[in-house]
Amino acid sequence: MKDDNTLTAQDLTDINGDEFTQAYQQFVKAGDLISLTRQFEQGFAQTGRDNQLSFNVKEAKVSLLDTGILLVEPESSAMSDKPSKRIVISSGIHGNETAPIEIVQQIIGDIIAKKIQVKHPTLFIMGHPVAMNIAKRFKTENLNRLFCGKHQLIEPCFEKYRAEKLEQYVSGFFNAGTSDVTNYHYDLHTAIRSSKYEKFAIYPYQADKPWDKEQLSFMAACGVNTILFGHGPTGTFSYYSSANFAAHAFTVELGKVRPFGENDMTSFQAAADKLTALVCNEDLSLKDFDNNDFNLFEALGDITKVSDNFKLYVDDAASNFTDYPVGTILSTDTGEEYRTTQVGESVVFPNANVGNGQRAALMVVPTTL
Ligand SMILES: [Zn+2]
Repeated sequence: MKDDNTLTAQDLTDINGDEFTQAYQQFVKAGDLISLTRQFEQGFAQTGRDNQLSFNVKEAKVSLLDTGILLVEPESSAMSDKPSKRIVISSGIHGNETAPIEIVQQIIGDIIAKKIQVKHPTLFIMGHPVAMNIAKRFKTENLNRLFCGKHQLIEPCFEKYRAEKLEQYVSGFFNAGTSDVTNYHYDLHTAIRSSKYEKFAIYPYQADKPWDKEQLSFMAACGVNTILFGHGPTGTFSYYSSANFAAHAFTVELGKVRPFGENDMTSFQAAADKLTALVCNEDLSLKDFDNNDFNLFEALGDITKVSDNFKLYVDDAASNFTDYPVGTILSTDTGEEYRTTQVGESVVFPNANVGNGQRAALMVVPTTL
């Protein structure tokens, strides 16, 4: 093992050997990517890139590229007619967010059981095997802050190594597409705190590009009708694909965190069904966009902790999108206070336990398109 806790190919061969061969054969038969990924959290020496770990299902080729990373490519005869798409569906970027991992598993299971026919190249991701195994959001660093090269700025740890790898797999996947292909990336999460609106999505900052109403309709069809419009570049996985590959991308929060096996999967069925339909090029039956079907929010600004005297009057357990009457004092700090000024002004991601100079809450207001 190297100093930074990542394993070399030789380490992996030494550790895995026959055990991996058996587990892989079991995966080809039963399609359980969760169990294979958890068994080999650090990876394995073999990769799918040279067809070592590839097999065929129903007019498609399945390649295991790395632990938790599965590429499914339809044969050219099975590819959908134009418009063609390349789709990334990621889960488990936070290891304890199990429902999204189970959604991805459900789709992969159906593909390997030959129940569904994939029509667009799709990269499925279970993002953080190490955190999955310890049932934690992350081990050392929050993986969903490390994309867009931000992993280069931190000390060696599993997340640093994994963010770099995930960027490589996603860029390789999107770069393999031709110029007439449209890219998609849905990064599926569940939230730690409760939310006034159970399901919501963060639409990454688009700079000069307009918000895509058809994509909002797709989110609504997935059961997600609360959308928070991003207000600047970030280090999230969805922003990475949006900014670098013009992908239609979202960070999708599907409900509350629960352990494996304790998710009420019926609550996620709409999302699983629509993602399956997208991958299989089936009719999505999307409704035309209508503001009345959505709770849309734009960022108003941050409440920033300036000094040690900072006090946040929003409970850490407050639900996301809790709104306050105009004139409510939400925080005080040396010589200043934060008072709400807009009708419907609401708080998301409150956290008083941050360093000086960091964001303690994001304030948002309702908007329309
Ligand atoms: Zn998450």
